[in-house]
Amino acid sequence: MRIFDPHIHMTSRTTDDYERMRAAGVRAVVEPAFWLGQPRTNVGSFLDYFDGLLGWEPYRAAQYGIRHHCALALNPKEANDPRCTDVLAELPNYLLKDSVVAVGEIGYDSMTPAEEHAFEAQLAMAADSDLPVLVHTPHRDKVAGTRRTLDVVRASGTAPGRVLVDHLNEPTVGLVAESGCWMGFSIYPDTKMDPHRMVAILREYGTARMLVNSAADWGRSDPLKTREVADAMLAAGFTADDVDQVLWRNPVAFYRQSGRLDIGTASGEPAHIPDARSAEPDFAGNTIRRG
Ligand SMILES: [Zn+2]
Repeated sequence: MRIFDPHIHMTSRTTDDYERMRAAGVRAVVEPAFWLGQPRTNVGSFLDYFDGLLGWEPYRAAQYGIRHHCALALNPKEANDPRCTDVLAELPNYLLKDSVVAVGEIGYDSMTPAEEHAFEAQLAMAADSDLPVLVHTPHRDKVAGTRRTLDVVRASGTAPGRVLVDHLNEPTVGLVAESGCWMGFSIYPDTKMDPHRMVAILREYGTARMLVNSAADWGRSDPLKTREVADAMLAAGFTADDVDQVLWRNPVAFYRQSGRLDIGTASGEPAHIPDARSAEPDFAGNTIRRG
């Protein structure tokens, strides 16, 4: 089984997670830029973080046989902080980098005017950079937030096929299905969405334009939730090909629109990735090469 996690915050995870993910079938991930827990106080803090998503994190993932790409953006939460918003002027240069496969995550958190401004500005940047967009939907007021999100996307003129609307659930999936956008589902340990509810949604809406992610981050989350959904699909009578479509081919098709997705061979094995555990025995006492 090959798995592509299209939304996971590996910066907040340990190297053990990479090892467990690889063993469960995860071969590729996209890490969208988000907040760091502690609020950022200046633009430089974003730039070091973006460099980490472009340099250190793919390097760390590759040591465990996982291909790492990223999506970059000013996240909705920090779009409200005037100390952060000047990062919008720096973003276009970062969106040129090779492993950036989308603008994201953007969208609404508390649905403020400042969030809306950053959302619209970054939709325009995505068009200028010819990149698809990963859109976060708010966890409160979800139906209203999703409707308004789709209105902003429509008004921007962005083709729905270039937009992935994430963190959906039963009340919001229908709105996004109608819009023509791709549908993302974040599977959590005990709230919001679980593997069995996900299977029921796939039964009702089919497997086209459907993506499943673990959204693992600092909070209570689990990077193996993608695999759990795959297993729940098989147990419910979906075929191995259905699983491959949702857990691999759909995310590949969505992010491939960037023209930059590099996932190696069709088997899902990343190309040209050295295995840290055998290639270089000398870690100078560390469990990971330090670059
Ligand atoms: Zn996220």
